[in-house]
Amino acid sequence: MSHTAPSDPAAAATGTPPPSAVSRPRVAIVGGSVTGPAAALLLLHAGFDVSVYEAAGDSAPQGGGLIGLEHASLDVLDQLGIEQSEFVKYDSEVVAHIAVRERRPARARRHRYAGRNTTWPLLHAALARRLPAGVLHTGATVTGLSDYHGQPLLHFADGQRRPVDLVVFADGRASVGRQLLDGGRRLRYAGYVAHRGQVAGPVSGLRDFLRFQPVPEAGVQLTVAPIPGGADWTFYLGATAAQYTRWFGAPPTRRLFALPHHVGAAARARVDEAARRYLPEPQATLVAGTTDRMAAPVMDIDPPTRMVWPLRGGHAVLLGDALAPVRPHTARGANNGIEQAAGLVAALTQHRKYGADLATALEGWQRRHLPAALAAVAAGPVLGRHIGFADA
Ligand SMILES: Cc1cc2nc3c(=O)[nH]c(=O)nc-3n(C[C@H](O)[C@H](O)[C@H](O)COP(=O)(O)OP(=O)(O)OC[C@H]3O[C@@H](n4cnc5c(N)ncnc54)[C@H](O)[C@@H]3O)c2cc1C
Repeated sequence: MSHTAPSDPAAAATGTPPPSAVSRPRVAIVGGSVTGPAAALLLLHAGFDVSVYEAAGDSAPQGGGLIGLEHASLDVLDQLGIEQSEFVKYDSEVVAHIAVRERRPARARRHRYAGRNTTWPLLHAALARRLPAGVLHTGATVTGLSDYHGQPLLHFADGQRRPVDLVVFADGRASVGRQLLDGGRRLRYAGYVAHRGQVAGPVSGLRDFLRFQPVPEAGVQLTVAPIPGGADWTFYLGATAAQYTRWFGAPPTRRLFALPHHVGAAARARVDEAARRYLPEPQATLVAGTTDRMAAPVMDIDPPTRMVWPLRGGHAVLLGDALAPVRPHTARGANNGIEQAAGLVAALTQHRKYGADLATALEGWQRRHLPAALAAVAAGPVLGRHIGFADA
């Protein structure tokens, strides 16, 4: 991978047009999951020239699960004209926190969540289906960034090069953008795993988001919520990096999402055994009866100190999980990405429409949004300790 080399002869070799006389800033978004398409739609509405590059061969690469969206993010989707009923299928705001003693529900506390639950497939589909033809390029893996006649040039795995004015990296936990721009920041495994499952078929009486907390055990928690066609659960359990590697075929820093085909018999057995040991019978049965399983290692990252990088003739920014993946209990990952995207588009619009200085506008955006990202990074270990996971 290269970063801002003085000029790029390969661009000429591949016939890339020189980036002269740009009338509208060309924005390249890397990543077509949640943050990327949200940013793309907002930019298109504001009149920008946008392309989205997604490495996966189709536009729905991950079988992701439940995502809680707070009101600020819901409002962004509203402004995009996306009816909430399209991606919120269960509109309960109730979260029930259930203490479990000797496998029996002992005590329940209820509170309301200032938001609504959706799922990754519903949210992704609602966004991606609104991208006009020709905006989303799937099977396009970005590998580097260099400089061509004083303009940023994106490199692709197939050897293509494209000149752009602004690069928005929304390429997730293993972000190439972060490696290129801010390579000193490392991801660290937090010592536990979010095992996930999707139950096919209705779960009787399930309407709210339920959190089961076995006590006095430390480091075990199950969450369950209804999703279309069934239920989604996440079971947090400790595991060493060696166990994770054995169960999912690669170390946590390399396998940041274990998809169903990565989940072997040993991982299933560990989850089923913990469910039988700690959870009430109905939840243990629910877990054991789930065939569709995934997992995500819980990760921490060195906190970001910036979101914007000036390049010769342009800028690059990091958004969403590309900037800072956060622990799932914070329920902030997708929210951070959507809110950052909306703020970015506001700053770019002030530049384009009213001539605001671009560097200053981007700095203002960073000043506004970096503290929220830092707060979410810092909240992860606090919430983890609350469940009983010691710092790794
Ligand atoms: C168990 C669990 C529960 C969660 N619950 C919540 C919640 O309640 N609320 C919440 O807000 N968040 C939640 N999250 C987090 C949320 O799912 C993520 O923060 C969110 O999906 C990140 O979106 P993103 O678009 O930034 O990144 P991603 O979804 O990771 O997407 C990145 C995209 O970039 C593509 N890509 C990667 N590299 C390249 C490349 N080099 N070139 C081109 N494309 C590339 C990938 O294929 C992918 O499609 C949860 C996460 C987990 C694991």
